Amino acid sequence: MSGDIKMRRAIGSHGTVHGVDGLQQRHDAAQTLPALFCDSAGCAAPLIFVPARPRPKTDPAYPAPMPGYFALDKGAAHVTGCRYNVAGHLAEVLDAAAASDPAFVQRLEDGRHELRLLALHQGLKRGGGALPEQQMRLLSTLLVLRAMCGNDALLADRVVLRLGKKKLAWDAFFHDPAHYDEAWARLDAASNEVPMALLGTVRSHRSPPPGTGAGATYLNCAPKYQKTGVMDRREFYEVSVGHDDAAWLQRFPVGAEIVMFGLWRQGNSHTSTRPHPTDPRRSITNVTHKLALRPGSPGQLAVVA
Ligand SMILES: [Zn+2]
Repeated sequence: MSGDIKMRRAIGSHGTVHGVDGLQQRHDAAQTLPALFCDSAGCAAPLIFVPARPRPKTDPAYPAPMPGYFALDKGAAHVTGCRYNVAGHLAEVLDAAAASDPAFVQRLEDGRHELRLLALHQGLKRGGGALPEQQMRLLSTLLVLRAMCGNDALLADRVVLRLGKKKLAWDAFFHDPAHYDEAWARLDAASNEVPMALLGTVRSHRSPPPGTGAGATYLNCAPKYQKTGVMDRREFYEVSVGHDDAAWLQRFPVGAEIVMFGLWRQGNSHTSTRPHPTDPRRSITNVTHKLALRPGSPGQLAVVA
C-alpha cells in the first residue's frame, strides 16, 4: 500500500534535493524533468513528479489547487526500512504502543489494534493541558501516517478507533480538505464538540493588532471551495486554529501541511454578495462555513513530513 504515498521531496541522480515547487516551475515551463529517486536513506526507489491540478482561469476566487507531489514510479517499491514504508512503520508503532500502554492500544484477536480514545477525549473536555501526553503523541504519529497515505484504506484496515462504547469510522474521524464539508456536517448534527482530526495546508496567521492587549492568534488553512449547483452561489469551508501563543502557531509556516486534532466546533457561517464582474444583471453569493479548534496541548498539531 506504500505505492499510494505522496512525497514532498526527491533526490536527483547527483544527490540534488528537489522540492515540489521547483519541479512545478520546470513542469509549467515545459522543461525536461530530471530522474528522481526516494530521498530516504538507503532507499533510492525511482519516483515520478505529479504536477498540481491547474487553477481554472475563469474563476479567480477558486482557492489554490492541491500542490503537486512525488509518487513511486510504476512497479517501484520502497525498501523495508524506508520512512515512506508507512505499513511497516505503522506496524512497529502499534506493536510498541500495545506493549507499553495496553490500556490505550489493545491488540485484537484478528491482528488489528484498537485505539481507546476515551481518556484522551475526557482530557480534551477538561481542557487546561490535562491530556495524557504519551497517548497524544502516538495518536499524532498515526494521524501523520494517515495523512501520508492519502486515503483511509491502510489505517481502516489495521486500526479500530473506539470512544467508550462507540466505534468511530476513520472516514468520520479524519477529514482531508476535500471533505471539510463532511466534517462541518458532522458538527452541525452534533450537540457537543466532536473529536476529529483535520488535514490542512497553512495559508495565513492572523494576530491581534499590536497595542490592543492580549488576544488569540489564528492559523488559517486553505479552505475547501465548493460549487453548489446553484448559479452564482458558492460555498467555502474554512478551517482555523486559535491560540494565545502566537509564536507556537508561527512554528507551522505558510505552505506546511499539518494535522489538527481535538474537539472541533462550528463558527458562525456568513453570506456575502457582490456584483458579477462582467454581467451587471447578476450578483455572486459566497457562503462561508467555519470549523474552529482551540487546542489546549501542543501535541494536537503536527506537521506532515
Ligand atoms: Zn523509499
